[in-house]
Amino acid sequence: MNHVICHYSEIGLKGKNRKFFEEKLIYNIKQVLKPSDVEFAKRISGRILIKLTSKGGKSQEHIQRALYHVFGVAYFAFARESEQTIEAMQKTAYELIRDKEFKTFRVLTKRSNKNFPIISPEVNKKVGAYIFKHISSDKRADLTNPDFTVYVEIVEKYAFVYVEKFQGPGGLPVGVGGRALVLLSGGIDSPVASYYAMKRGVKLDFIHFHAYPYTNKASIEKVRKIITILNQFQFTSTLYLSSFADIQKQIVAKASPKLRVVLYRRFMARIAESIAQKNNSVALVSGESLGQVASQTLENIYTISNAVDILILRPLIGQDKQEIVEKAKEVGTYDISILPDQDCCVRFVPKHPETKARLKDVEKAEKKLKTKKLIKAAVQEVVKEKISF
Ligand code: ATP
Ligand code: MG
Repeated sequence: MNHVICHYSEIGLKGKNRKFFEEKLIYNIKQVLKPSDVEFAKRISGRILIKLTSKGGKSQEHIQRALYHVFGVAYFAFARESEQTIEAMQKTAYELIRDKEFKTFRVLTKRSNKNFPIISPEVNKKVGAYIFKHISSDKRADLTNPDFTVYVEIVEKYAFVYVEKFQGPGGLPVGVGGRALVLLSGGIDSPVASYYAMKRGVKLDFIHFHAYPYTNKASIEKVRKIITILNQFQFTSTLYLSSFADIQKQIVAKASPKLRVVLYRRFMARIAESIAQKNNSVALVSGESLGQVASQTLENIYTISNAVDILILRPLIGQDKQEIVEKAKEVGTYDISILPDQDCCVRFVPKHPETKARLKDVEKAEKKLKTKKLIKAAVQEVVKEKISF
């Protein structure tokens, strides 16, 4: 079978933007499939039709895995093309079903080309009757809960038949929702937050803060690997590496230990905001989840947000740790996230940090630091690298 039909859901609702969404989706599909596997990918009334080269047709598993990473795809199927006549559809359907194991079946037709003269229920009946006639007699029709469904799609000048549907990842094509900059730590949460932002169509850049040379480079290696996995969804990424050691030294020397975590986060947000502005990112993304750790109380999140004007998205705000862990395993980042590293932020953090850091107190503490100068220096020293698919 050398056609794949991709159906999408929400894109259909986007009115005038629909073309833009569809083009992005096609572009993204082409990015994930090997170019040598694709003869063409194009829109045909409300679907994307992919024609695989004969070479591509051989690696169904590869294509399945690849399409599972294209946000915007609701479901897809490997389909066989038939002529747009009832006889050809009957034959194709029979060929696809005859070797399958099942007791009950049904035929389900979608007739998008309303010029085709036979309405869907009639196509169902005719194709079903043909299958009955040619297949062993113990098979029964079951229209509500069959073991097996034969799908027929009559679209434009084409007719396609398939017998298996694969669930896509849903969401919206990466790139239709603008850009955001993720604060990526190397822990479990921020890669999952990245997943959810990409799922709603946002193209991501990443910033990681490290304390090298005071720590080793493990966290940097981890974020590179995590980004390689996230690239399955968005193909290429930019990573900004920011040295946080000087800022930490100042905070440790001059501010109350209880306020350190919130101060670290405020500085991170400011540096990220500055990078985002230079890079046309409209928002920051963080992996915070309400109440998960001391720095993530409502009060502290408020105090952190207050350091910047830029919008901070927190896609995990309402998720339990266990839900996040499960998603991380599904996305494939979990095994990397749990590798040991020397996270810059656990350095010099007291056992009992402030859970309700008041803005007033934090601002007072920052007066003793050379905040602007530190931020400016840090931004200047940020190192940018591309991580490709
Ligand atoms: P994660 O698993 O993402 O590290 P966490 O539960 O460990 O999250 P924190 O360590 O409090 O939570 O960090 C909260 C968020 O701040 C992270 O999800 C991430 O977005 C950001 N962050 C923390 N440390 C760093 C870092 N070193 N570099 C970049 N972002 C960071
Ligand atoms: Mg962390």
